[in-house]
Amino acid sequence: SKPVVAIVGRPNVGKSTLFNVLAGEKISIVKDTPGVTRDRIYADTSWLDRDFTLIDTGGIEPESKDIIISQMREQAQIAIDTADVIVFITDVRQGLVDADSKVADMLRRSGKPVVLVVNKVDSFQKFMADVYEFYNLGIGDPHPISASSRLGIGDMLDAVIKYF
Ligand code: GDP
Ligand code: MG
Repeated sequence: SKPVVAIVGRPNVGKSTLFNVLAGEKISIVKDTPGVTRDRIYADTSWLDRDFTLIDTGGIEPESKDIIISQMREQAQIAIDTADVIVFITDVRQGLVDADSKVADMLRRSGKPVVLVVNKVDSFQKFMADVYEFYNLGIGDPHPISASSRLGIGDMLDAVIKYF
């Protein structure tokens, strides 16, 4: 069966935007237990003739800080349990925050391949200096992208399919 790639990250970092860029129109929603915000969004897609299934683990995301952390742990666990490669997204505009470090620790301990992505790098010239702090997560090289401007997407996907 096809490799599974899961997108994980804090609310508002751009998971859904990236998912839509990669998935195009081929989206289906898979519902879990009613009332539990674990609905996952799946799409079958490909890069350089490599087919894979993409999952946006985000779903409906909370506003409260405590709930954000617990839901992120849950999403990271879904990714660890179901994915072959995890795309972990952060946000260069917000910088590195504590919730990022917590999830990175979980992902590192799982031993699953992780591609670290730093989104909202809409201008490499302007924001590249702010990308380097993400090395501190200890999960490898940060890949700068702009999901909304479609920058860096090819290099990021090259890094993903290397793990298949
Ligand atoms: P999610 O909560 O992680 O799924 O994030 P969304 O995809 O819903 O995006 C959250 C907000 O960030 C939206 O207002 C997006 O338009 C914006 N956004 C997403 N990607 C980018 C990007 O590359 N650059 C900028 N400047 N904004 C972005
Ligand atoms: Mg979303």
